Amino acid sequence: MSTTLDDFLTAKLVGTPASARPLRPAVFVDLDGTLIEPLPADLADPTPVRFIPGAGEALARLRAAGLAVVIVTNQSGIARGYFSRAQFARLQDVLERQLQDEFGAEIDDVAVCPHSPDARGRPACLCRKPAPGMLTRAARAHGLDLHRSWMIGDTLDDVEAGHRAGARSVLLDTGGETEWRLSPLREPDGRFTDWEALVDQLLASIDPLPARPVTALASAQAPVLTVATAASRLIDASDEARASVSSSSTLFAAFRPRPAALRSSVPSPL
Ligand SMILES: [Zn+2]
Repeated sequence: MSTTLDDFLTAKLVGTPASARPLRPAVFVDLDGTLIEPLPADLADPTPVRFIPGAGEALARLRAAGLAVVIVTNQSGIARGYFSRAQFARLQDVLERQLQDEFGAEIDDVAVCPHSPDARGRPACLCRKPAPGMLTRAARAHGLDLHRSWMIGDTLDDVEAGHRAGARSVLLDTGGETEWRLSPLREPDGRFTDWEALVDQLLASIDPLPARPVTALASAQAPVLTVATAASRLIDASDEARASVSSSSTLFAAFRPRPAALRSSVPSPL
């Protein structure tokens, strides 16, 4: 069972072993509501793919700037029986072909969590966002530097997944987030309403951080879910924290700076 699941989750990862080459920065991009209009609960076959305005051009720019592009998507409709893995794989083929043909945007991988959440809506696996499993697995498979990488998504679960993986997280507010449950891990490093402004800011903000071992990041920056739950209760009581995220839909003037302890004076190869 677990072998089959791993095969599915890493369908395209296994053929690209990490090597001794320098770790690359990446953007991890959510699918529904971020890259494309939300998919229906039960996929038609074929399902038409409609991109969020500016998304295809944005991925092409990010890839051209030297960032790996990995799509990370929760698809619990597979576990719920709404559609099959084969149906989603066909949709993925259409998506990748359209990105290439219409925008010249190649992507490095698509990571899928096919599992259902638990009864409280929390991940029951290691890969369903806000858990970071899809990001950390892709990082190991492709030699990605999570510390210099970004998660882009339309919900705070995406933001949290990026932070749990040790990356920075940007919210593309297309209306997908409706609950605004805040915690330190769910506070975006930047918030935008359109792709072009997001990419402008992201490319201007790439900072010279050195490659770091993924294993060190995992222990230093990815607290377990139970710890974050306790922390979120404290922050939820803070009106100031709530206002900082929910009061405005305008973009941040600049991304939040990293904590000093995470910086380094070693120049980046980027
Ligand atoms: Zn999962």
